[in-house]
Amino acid sequence: MDSITQMALGASIAGAVAGKTLGRTALITGAALGTLPDLDVVLDYGSAVANFTQHRGFSHSLFVLIPLAIALAWGLWRWRPALGFQRWLALTSLVLVTHPLLDSFTTYGTQLFWPIGGPIALSSIFIIDPLYTLPLLAGCLAFLLRPPATGAIAAGLAVSSLYLGWTLFAQQIISDRVQPALAEAGLEESRVLVQPMPFNTRALARYRAHRARSRGDCHWLLRRQYASESGVFPTPP
Ligand SMILES: [Zn+2]
Repeated sequence: MDSITQMALGASIAGAVAGKTLGRTALITGAALGTLPDLDVVLDYGSAVANFTQHRGFSHSLFVLIPLAIALAWGLWRWRPALGFQRWLALTSLVLVTHPLLDSFTTYGTQLFWPIGGPIALSSIFIIDPLYTLPLLAGCLAFLLRPPATGAIAAGLAVSSLYLGWTLFAQQIISDRVQPALAEAGLEESRVLVQPMPFNTRALARYRAHRARSRGDCHWLLRRQYASESGVFPTPP
């Protein structure tokens, strides 16, 4: 997801965990930690394609982020001992782990278990979706104006999480609707890629269902999309 969303999610989680003790500092710390895994964009993997495909690799791996959360919790606890080590650990681990989990709901996917296995892409939410982000931002804004508004933060987290759950449900509804059409066209065996669009609760019809006759076609569509959105190849007319 985009960096504003990841900052808002990190800040909200940190506010919920430590807002009462640390006030606005909790939100700032959470926002910084929420963007930390994406800082690997400054690394050069050798080519434009490699930079794009290897992003969300080691920096989004639970095997890297969990030890990092423990180390950061220790350092932050030394900096601000008013918050106990366990609370700091809850804050750093929840913020760092939810970042790649959220990314795994997008079409681009995340190598959650790097170096083992490939990317996980649930493909239920578009990479920028204000309906997910705005409730988080509203909760953060309420907190910043009148700290510690942990109730507003919790409400923002609840609404955005429900929306995220809804995207999986919507994806399933669309897949179910596409199946009869495929069967009619004699393509029951096709693999279908249901691709999310922004604001996907507004109209389910905004989901685009790509039909592909084979696994290969499906991957081709996905790769074509990667390439066009990364600017490596122009979008076909
Ligand atoms: Zn990310």
